[in-house]
Amino acid sequence: MATMIAARLHAYGSPMTLDRIEVPEPRPTDVLVEVKACGVVPNLARVVGNFFGTLTPDNKMMPPLPAIFGLDPAGVVAKVGEQVFSIRPGERVYVNPARSCGSCKMCRNGRELDCPSFTLQGYFGRSQDIMRAYPYGGLAQFITAPATALVKLPDNVSFEAAARLGYFGTAYSAMKKIGVGPGHTLLVNGASGQLGLNAVQLALAMGATKILGTGRKQALLDRVKALAPERIEVLSVPDAPSRPSSASGGGQGGGGPTNPDPLVVWARSKTEGHGVDGMIDCLPPGAPAAAMMRALLCLRRGGRAVNVGAVLETLQLNAFWMMTNRIGLQGSVWFTTGEGEAMAAMAGAGTLDLSVLEHRVSPLSKINGVLAGMDARDGGFTNFVIDPTRVD
Ligand SMILES: [Zn+2]
Repeated sequence: MATMIAARLHAYGSPMTLDRIEVPEPRPTDVLVEVKACGVVPNLARVVGNFFGTLTPDNKMMPPLPAIFGLDPAGVVAKVGEQVFSIRPGERVYVNPARSCGSCKMCRNGRELDCPSFTLQGYFGRSQDIMRAYPYGGLAQFITAPATALVKLPDNVSFEAAARLGYFGTAYSAMKKIGVGPGHTLLVNGASGQLGLNAVQLALAMGATKILGTGRKQALLDRVKALAPERIEVLSVPDAPSRPSSASGGGQGGGGPTNPDPLVVWARSKTEGHGVDGMIDCLPPGAPAAAMMRALLCLRRGGRAVNVGAVLETLQLNAFWMMTNRIGLQGSVWFTTGEGEAMAAMAGAGTLDLSVLEHRVSPLSKINGVLAGMDARDGGFTNFVIDPTRVD
């Protein structure tokens, strides 16, 4: 039996260990992928520290231990199951970790992301059965996955860049929901972080006319603006207003004339006074709800917002303002494999420019150090990648 090295977590809050385990055999509709790169998201440090265990006492969101994490694997197909007909060994792929049950009403209607058993392979999710069926995250040398989960990579998309597709896809699927495209003005709230930077890059690729970005660090925002100075405007917003805008103005929004939020004033000044067509919230965990609310208030009448950020605080949202201004707000999580294919095509064609990412590649043996050191990064420009082929 062939063996491989995998980084495994044996107890929440403990370091991962490198273990030698059997290489799995793909089931008939699965593939075996040799992992060449796996993205590491800053939130993984929280997850292995049992963040979700603290939210859900029964701990049903977490994979059974020992667990192999790793959300964004990219690599080469090594073997295919006997019922896999259109993927062959040797193909370069990204493995979409979105798993669903495959047979519920949502899945049968092609809405896998709405499956009540939705689970992210190599991370956490709603189904212990699925986590047991697909226990291999990307922090291992080989991984099994359904053939339907594979995004084929164009030759000019590196494994390291593909290991970032989770963030890109989350932003892409969200922005499709609010109609980002030609003629559209978009506010990216938190534009210099991992999600926000990728949202800006995709909005450029999707044809958005004007992109407004907020952030806290001016130096990072300057780098965001430099991606396309004629289409991107940035504003440093160090703190949310101490008194949240009331959003009670009936037709006004924006906190009313007596207390104009500088962000709302700025957004309107860039959009002929109307406000933005769309807003994608990419704020990190720990951001106050008021920082999201003020971005919502930048919407024009009829504007639509989508949340992919991690604000945990309860939003003080005025339903009457929302109704009279015809405001839309939707949550979004992850993306379909088809959306992954669309992004890969954009990257292949060069309309989505991946060259701004700075890959920080480490061998698998350094995973614990990588997790401990993720705060030292240049916002979203830093791309943390583990190379499982290296265990030195
Ligand atoms: Zn389902």
